[in-house]
Amino acid sequence: MNKDNVLITGSTSGIGLATARVLAAQGLNLMLNGLESGAEGSALAEGLQREFGVKACYCQADVARPEQLQQLIEKAETDLGPIGVLVNNAGIQHTSSLADFPQVKWDAIIALNLSAAFHAMQRLMPTMKQAGWGRVINIASVHGLVASPNKAAYCAAKHGLVGLSKVAALEYAEHGVTVNCLCPGWTDTPILNHQFNEYAKNHGVSFQEAKSGLIKTKAPYPELISPEAIGRMIQFLISDSADAITGTSIPIDGGWTAQ
Ligand code: NAD
Repeated sequence: MNKDNVLITGSTSGIGLATARVLAAQGLNLMLNGLESGAEGSALAEGLQREFGVKACYCQADVARPEQLQQLIEKAETDLGPIGVLVNNAGIQHTSSLADFPQVKWDAIIALNLSAAFHAMQRLMPTMKQAGWGRVINIASVHGLVASPNKAAYCAAKHGLVGLSKVAALEYAEHGVTVNCLCPGWTDTPILNHQFNEYAKNHGVSFQEAKSGLIKTKAPYPELISPEAIGRMIQFLISDSADAITGTSIPIDGGWTAQ
């Protein structure tokens, strides 16, 4: 059954890895992906196999490069069978004013945070349609809904991902395939370390103080969101209860976008 087989891009860390653990605990089979070596990634996959008794594999691939993304998808289908759940999660950040934004960073962020999802959806959604069931979950961000200064490429890519997901949701709604975005706020993963370090440097505070200081600049909820909470929302979106939820962009943001 394609329902049992999940591909998560960028699943060696943070939200992707936490989601892999949540879904493995549900008995789903997983293709993990990241930039880490085959040995490192396979060790993670073997750990999930041992702990949860599911099939878990790993493929090192830079999904910003379409040919490597295709290899990842082919390996996923060979090792697991038809993929029913696609989580487009791999993403990077770079902060800089628009005037100074390096073109190479713009290109890299658009390629990974937006175009990789397009290529993966274009390749996998027709097979989901054939099977009559599929789930695509795109990890956008609050920055798919609102903007912040110094995040031109990230906001452009995440707003683009929200739009892409709506189009795909409309095209596939009658075929049993849903497409939704999750829009997290400050979530406790390594992607934020650079921003916390910058805040600590600029305000002369410790890393811990920088964490709470930076969170408060945007969100009423004063804590970092756990990556597992994002994984549990994905668990819900792939359940039968979510059959009619498609084309949405769900904030998990501690009230950030309520303001
Ligand atoms: P993370 O840095 O912990 O994880 C990123 C993952 O992506 C890692 O597994 C890394 O190996 C992988 N990756 C990076 N470049 C890759 C590439 N070219 N090809 C394949 N894999 C690649 O970060 P995270 O916070 O878990 O981020 C996951 C997603 O969540 C991203 O799309 C990010 O934009 C989004 N997000 C994060 C937050 C947050 O506060 N942490 C908030 C909103 C949205």
